[in-house]
Amino acid sequence: MKIISKPLELKKYLKDEEKSIGFVPTMGALHEGHISLIKRARGETEIVIVSIFVNPKQFSKDEDFSKYPKKDEADTKICEMSGVDILFFPNAKDIYGCDEVSLLAPNIRGFVLEGLTRPTHFNGVLTVVMKLLNIVSPTKAYFGKKDAQQFNLINLMVKQLFMSVEIIGVETVRESDGLALSSRNVYLSKKERRESLKISSSLYLAGNLIVKNILDVDTIKEQMQKILAPLEIFYVEILNRNFEIIKEVEVGNSIVLVEVKVGNTRLLDNIWL
Ligand code: AMP
Repeated sequence: MKIISKPLELKKYLKDEEKSIGFVPTMGALHEGHISLIKRARGETEIVIVSIFVNPKQFSKDEDFSKYPKKDEADTKICEMSGVDILFFPNAKDIYGCDEVSLLAPNIRGFVLEGLTRPTHFNGVLTVVMKLLNIVSPTKAYFGKKDAQQFNLINLMVKQLFMSVEIIGVETVRESDGLALSSRNVYLSKKERRESLKISSSLYLAGNLIVKNILDVDTIKEQMQKILAPLEIFYVEILNRNFEIIKEVEVGNSIVLVEVKVGNTRLLDNIWL
């Protein structure tokens, strides 16, 4: 596995590459969720590139940027063992200059749900993803459906800016008890870890109601809120896959989304129904 930290060095290295490239952007502290993206890329493309970059621009001042978990050595091993060809490990000063061109998230889809409480978050996400895609020029780029709004906005960016990369969404990997894997799960105390199970329980409840043909969005949200009640709820929402508000679940075209705070940790999850 080759490790490269300079964007222009990576661009130069890939300049005459004719093989297909699969790209998995991450912020490190890799877990089975990230590994499933890497494996999917390994199965579908000839060269697999993973980036590890904790993007300062997607954190607001009061968020966990400075204490975001860093596991460089373990991450490098995981990449090696997962068959990654190139690990791209840039510094912030290699990615950002001082007088920056940046992207703005769209006014509607970028400022609902997570974008409502984190208004600069998706500007930072789209800007860094655009930079990374321009550096790597992948055939396919892999993103988790767990970050459904991010996945939706990246698809929108690629479509609206006429970019040629294919964006692939990968299913959420969970612990055996239902908690979606996240690098932030390490922040949870034992008690918070138990409380966090309310998130997947509320999503499973939504799934069960929908199977019983209870499709009224307000009814389902109410039931979910009862389960989540002791936690600080940022949102419980059911949208169609274009992220539009619906009154009735459209089976096969809906996403049930939750974001809560457990202790001091924001956790989000969703199911696609
Ligand atoms: P992050 O390092 O948290 O920025 O995540 C990097 C990529 O891994 C993103 O596309 C995430 O959506 C994806 N990802 C994170 N957690 C999971 C998970 N539990 N299952 C599948 N993909 C995930």
